[in-house]
Amino acid sequence: MNCFHCSCIRPKSRNSTVMSKTKAQQPAVIHKVIMVGSGGVGKSALTLQFMYDEFVEDFEPTKADSYRKKVVLDGEEVQIDYWTLQVRGDYAAIRDNYFRSGEGFLCVFSITEQESFQATAEFREQILRVKSDDNIPFLLVGNKADLENRQVSAEEANQRAHSWNVTYVETSAKTRANVDKVFYDLMREIRSRKMKASQQNNGQKKKKSSKRKCVIL
Ligand code: GDP
Ligand code: MG
Repeated sequence: MNCFHCSCIRPKSRNSTVMSKTKAQQPAVIHKVIMVGSGGVGKSALTLQFMYDEFVEDFEPTKADSYRKKVVLDGEEVQIDYWTLQVRGDYAAIRDNYFRSGEGFLCVFSITEQESFQATAEFREQILRVKSDDNIPFLLVGNKADLENRQVSAEEANQRAHSWNVTYVETSAKTRANVDKVFYDLMREIRSRKMKASQQNNGQKKKKSSKRKCVIL
């Protein structure tokens, strides 16, 4: 599969659904999604639930994983190109390249680990530094909602989301609660951003062409 930050060919993450299709077979719309979060918050578990409908207890830790899947979003077939990342510190340049290519972000913490919640602020800062856009499609995701030993209250997380002007959603990769929701809601945000951008572009083009007419007259 093509790596979307540098166009190199990447090994397939899992053979079963990672598709290496020709361009002609790909749907017209591709949404590029990146999931970030500290180690152990459930990025792989959420990903495997979304991609393969299974909960895996022990998935080997990875710095970055890539997936591609065709889904139907509100009646339209789209492709999600998707990366999970937990790179920090030394890998800043690589991380920034991934962030640059992302069109939307899922920022995950575990509701059972306060430290992972604190780390979301760092991830958001890194993303905004690269994207220079406060309104970038972004969801704050509190995973492991099935567990009792909560260290982060829904109120605390909602407050943070509110201050960032983003939505907060609690998920469980174990029970599959809200797993599809976070991916689909983010894709809807990305789609709406793209539509706005193309409307603005069209508006600017029209302005330019009408200006030209004025000069001729
Ligand atoms: P990653 O490092 O962020 O990719 O985290 P993993 O997906 O590897 O998950 C770390 C551990 O938490 C694994 O043992 C998972 O089985 C477990 N885990 C992940 N998500 C959930 C969840 O929603 N509920 C519960 N109970 N355990 C989870
Ligand atoms: Mg992982």
